[in-house]
Amino acid sequence: MKHNEPVIIAFDTSCDDTSIAILEGRKVLSSVVSSQVEIHAQWGGVVPDIARREHEKNIPMVYEEALKKAKIKIEDVDYVAATYGPGLAIDLEVGLAFAKELAIKYNKPFVPVNHMEGHMFSGLSLNSKGKANPGGVVELDNLFPALALLISGKHTELVLINKIGDYKKIGETLDDAVGEAFDKVGRMLNFGYPGGPVVCEFAKKGVSGNIKFTIPMKNSGDMNFSYSGLKTAALYKTKELREAGKQDKEWVYDFCRGFLDTVIDSLNLKLKMAVESNPGVRTLFVGGGVFNSEEIVRKIGNTARSYGLTYIYSDQEYRGDNAGMIGVSAYFNILNGKYLSNVDEIRKVDRDPRLSL
Ligand code: ZN
Repeated sequence: MKHNEPVIIAFDTSCDDTSIAILEGRKVLSSVVSSQVEIHAQWGGVVPDIARREHEKNIPMVYEEALKKAKIKIEDVDYVAATYGPGLAIDLEVGLAFAKELAIKYNKPFVPVNHMEGHMFSGLSLNSKGKANPGGVVELDNLFPALALLISGKHTELVLINKIGDYKKIGETLDDAVGEAFDKVGRMLNFGYPGGPVVCEFAKKGVSGNIKFTIPMKNSGDMNFSYSGLKTAALYKTKELREAGKQDKEWVYDFCRGFLDTVIDSLNLKLKMAVESNPGVRTLFVGGGVFNSEEIVRKIGNTARSYGLTYIYSDQEYRGDNAGMIGVSAYFNILNGKYLSNVDEIRKVDRDPRLSL
């Protein structure tokens, strides 16, 4: 089959999902994710050693399935791409090693991808027919300069994007990431792991204002975040309510509502600062697993639109970790000439667990 755009196979094993996608340009032809969430749930969080074993077990099957679903033979792939950071070192290694070997074996150029750049442009993936998703666009004109808000279990970042490939981090968390705080609060409420999605679900039944928390870093004067203090405040609140003899079911919905409201307020506060201090920006890109909450997607979107920004977010499928977004990022890297063709150079690519944008 003849393809107009480069055909890319992309790998991501940065945390507990084994994911491989095939793209033609930004068009996702297949995206297969083997989730380990049930395995890690019994430990209350991701165990890197167990994740590595699972990645090693799953990757050959996920690979076959991704090719089969895309109806592509490996010989017809033009580029091999993989996340090399940030993430869990021993887990990153599995996908990276598999992808590098594949590139060398089939004599394909190799594209190392930053996982956070993947999240940032996850909304720019197109479906297999080349159509944009509801929160995306086909044409890339007039999108830059832009801002990105990235929130996940490990990251909370505000990034200024001058153009694709040219980034400046302008705010980040000083301690816990948003997703981490959600999961820890979920644990306090005995929601199991991951508890964050349950907090967002329960908040729907709560009343705003009944239980209040202080917005963290409200007067810090910068665009950084902090969620450790909020998490501690939440813990004291649960103790206070329980010691007062109140049953969890009497307050848990309002508690989740109050926590979610505070997180959204803190994100919007810093986002407004970022837009106002960078008046030329045209677009807000959002990404990361915490955007699985439709309410967060909507309320951040309201802020972006109130400033006249184009708001770009991905479909549910590409909000958590996935290789589809890694393929999109790889595509932009290919356009910018950022790939390796030399076998020795490909061999030298190492995982970088603390890689930053
Ligand atoms: Zn991620």
